[in-house]
Amino acid sequence: MARAVAGGTSLEEIPGTVVKFDGEIRKNPDRTWHRDIDRYPFPAVELLDWSLYRALTVQAPFYTMVTTRGCPFKCRFCSQIYAGNTVRFRSPENVVDEIELYVRKHGAREIVFFDETFTLNKARVMKICELIRERGLVFRFDMRTRVDSLDEEMVLALREAGGQRVHFGIESGSQEILDRMGKQTTVDQVRTAVSLCKRHGFSTRGYFMIGYLGETPQTYAETLKVARELDLDWASFSITTPLPQTHLFDEARSLGLVDEGFWRDYTLLKSPRLQFPIIESEYWDEARLQKMLKRAYSSFYLRPRMVWRHLAGLHGWGGLRDLAGGVRVMLSLQR
Ligand code: SF4
Repeated sequence: MARAVAGGTSLEEIPGTVVKFDGEIRKNPDRTWHRDIDRYPFPAVELLDWSLYRALTVQAPFYTMVTTRGCPFKCRFCSQIYAGNTVRFRSPENVVDEIELYVRKHGAREIVFFDETFTLNKARVMKICELIRERGLVFRFDMRTRVDSLDEEMVLALREAGGQRVHFGIESGSQEILDRMGKQTTVDQVRTAVSLCKRHGFSTRGYFMIGYLGETPQTYAETLKVARELDLDWASFSITTPLPQTHLFDEARSLGLVDEGFWRDYTLLKSPRLQFPIIESEYWDEARLQKMLKRAYSSFYLRPRMVWRHLAGLHGWGGLRDLAGGVRVMLSLQR
């Protein structure tokens, strides 16, 4: 936009913007998408001091990457659904060029892939793994995916290339809620994917949603039970947020459970609530949901097996310091 304005382009001619023109607010046409996303330059990581960045489960120095844009699935709670459910991939060569830059020039020990579903295209993943091995790049990596989007051949190749950790959007332990979410996965697929990754030495993390539309005490209990039964190393639980422009928001709004104008007021700093909206039900209000969230965390982490696993996996004083930070967060949740 700055370039367009400096070059004398009218404000009305800049796609993808909303502008005030002659005192009137106008929404310009949407920006067209480039199919070829290899065209974008790599981030200028040299402008940041990466020694300032740490994470509990990731070895520093680490860098983050995104190798795809979009997601073809249609989960009803996810904002990707309004991005057109298209997915664009960077080529394996382009991805591995960026990895090589971080590993060789910036000393990366770990790379965190933030793609929605890193393993969406098997042929591409296999090629990325092959190029990593061919170029002799030694580093660990971390990725996010779905339980139905990987198989044993891919898991083996990923592990051999340095794969360390897999994050799964599991969402619920109740098949009824998974179906209601439009997740298109089954609880059996969850069990299979987690056990496959564990068998081949991956650390695993599951993400779960609490208080989805239609959730009952029974489905909540099923989620906690499945989370504990799976051989996950980490679990994250969140209270469901009906995000704007999702089917979940439309559904909750049509049932009178969320205020139609919430997100507009929130964006304009006019909302009386500082927190995001939740979905209340006959079973719980907001305070009760917060208690359910705390219970989910304590029932998962405060087990002798989990405490021992995390203590045994510590790497030196830095690991102990980061774990202490994690425990502080846990204790603050208990208040
Ligand atoms: S939740 Fe994940 S799999 Fe589902 S639409 Fe969103 S990004 Fe895709």
